[in-house]
Amino acid sequence: MTTNRLLWALAVISVFMVVEVVGGVLSGSLALLADATHMLTDALALALAVSAQFFAVRPPDSRLHYGYRRAQVLAAFVNGIFLAFLLFWIVSEAVQRFVNPVEVNAPLMFGVAVAGLVANIVAFFILHRRDERDLNMRGAMLHVIGDLLGSVAAIVAAIVISMTGWLQIDPILSILVAVLIGVSAIRLVRETGFILLEGAPQSINVVELAAGIIDASPLIKEVHDIRISQITPDQPRLTMHACVDSAADAAPALEAAKAFLGKKYKIRNSTIQVEVGEDCPDRAFKDEEQLAPAANANQSIASGSAAGGAAVLAASD
Ligand SMILES: [Zn+2]
Repeated sequence: MTTNRLLWALAVISVFMVVEVVGGVLSGSLALLADATHMLTDALALALAVSAQFFAVRPPDSRLHYGYRRAQVLAAFVNGIFLAFLLFWIVSEAVQRFVNPVEVNAPLMFGVAVAGLVANIVAFFILHRRDERDLNMRGAMLHVIGDLLGSVAAIVAAIVISMTGWLQIDPILSILVAVLIGVSAIRLVRETGFILLEGAPQSINVVELAAGIIDASPLIKEVHDIRISQITPDQPRLTMHACVDSAADAAPALEAAKAFLGKKYKIRNSTIQVEVGEDCPDRAFKDEEQLAPAANANQSIASGSAAGGAAVLAASD
């Protein structure tokens, strides 16, 4: 995706978001404001994608070791919370308007909603070129249907109001749109919050990974204190301790373990503390601070005991 196309899509969405806010206020339609909120989610996502290209070139320094890459995760987290507040306002406003209907200028509402629909379609064609094979076409289509739904809801409400005068359709459809956006806002907060709390990626099973390392690097007799987190969703980072029998084994063991992590798990950022023998030099500190988390770090996984390790993890779930 080139920055230019992202910027164009961002411009189209932003302009029509403002059109919808103004149209929503002038016409009295809450459904238009709900759709504008939806456009705001798209605009924020596009702005994040654009800023990613700028953040990527700002280098890490001696204090901010990962540069600004995680700023994206933080921004998405804040966006999600901000959206949740907007949606809460829409729902409470909708409830009030359901009880005390507000007069709506249906023709104006209809015109603005159609403009919003066109803007969404234009943005879609800017972002998805037909000559590009979309690996996740179903996901993309679902996203488009979601994008169009807010505008379609406002169009339907405008038609119903001008034909029947039933004003409650506006708050009803507003709540529907707010709930749909709310689901993705909550998911966004949950996923980014998990990354900020240094959670391990869903796709990695720690017990399997430990067994795989011992398999791939037989000089390693045991691993413990495995901690996996995500700098960004596609950049996992790992630290762990690996026990070998003699100091001479350290270099080849480390090389084999790192090759395995890179190939099987795409983990290219790992710090492995090699320990000779059984004694972990960090044990004293661990007892002091009780740092070890329940799921993965307490259990040592030695050669041939992977099944035992799996049983421990299953039991602790
Ligand atoms: Zn250790």
